Amino acid sequence: MEIHKISVIQGDITKQHVDAIVNAANNTLLGGGGVDGAIHRAAGPRLLEECKLIGGCKTGDAVITLGYRLPANWVIHTVGPVWRGGTHGEAGLLANCYKNSLRLVVKHNIHTVAFPSISTGAYNYPVNDASYIAVKTVAAFLKTNPSIQEIRFVCFNNATYSAYMHALNKYRQEI
Ligand code: ADP
Repeated sequence: MEIHKISVIQGDITKQHVDAIVNAANNTLLGGGGVDGAIHRAAGPRLLEECKLIGGCKTGDAVITLGYRLPANWVIHTVGPVWRGGTHGEAGLLANCYKNSLRLVVKHNIHTVAFPSISTGAYNYPVNDASYIAVKTVAAFLKTNPSIQEIRFVCFNNATYSAYMHALNKYRQEI
């Protein structure tokens, strides 16, 4: 059952020993605050150089780089939607972040991947809704992509951790 491949922990994504970590980046890919800043600090300056060569990323899309000084070999950069009340396609764009990131996971033969809580920091997406979209989208992807071994949601604070645990339990009860 694919749900057993999903885990939720509280911690720092830059410290995760997985094949790939996902970055909640912005459209420029030039670094920012929050998890983006933490990943660039931990990976070192060559990450920014590679991001500059890529040149940018549309909201909902994802691109992949090396992990440089991180324990993870890869960083997948995806751009979540800014919350604008929920009527601007935010839910679909957020689901696309997870799907497009996981497409890169499969393409690069990556087996273990860690996600942060995309869009729920500076981009203000309500975490209860965002966490359920995250869980549901990755579970659906796992069903048709058995090569992925683990998808870990790394929650930076207690409120985020509670929301993801709740979303995972809610999804479990629905299937
Ligand atoms: P966004 O702009 O997509 O909202 P943020 O980085 O502002 O991205 O926030 C996304 C989530 O990442 C928030 O829950 C924030 O607390 C969390 N976060 C910040 N630093 C880290 C980190 N080092 N590891 C994991 N999550 C982090």
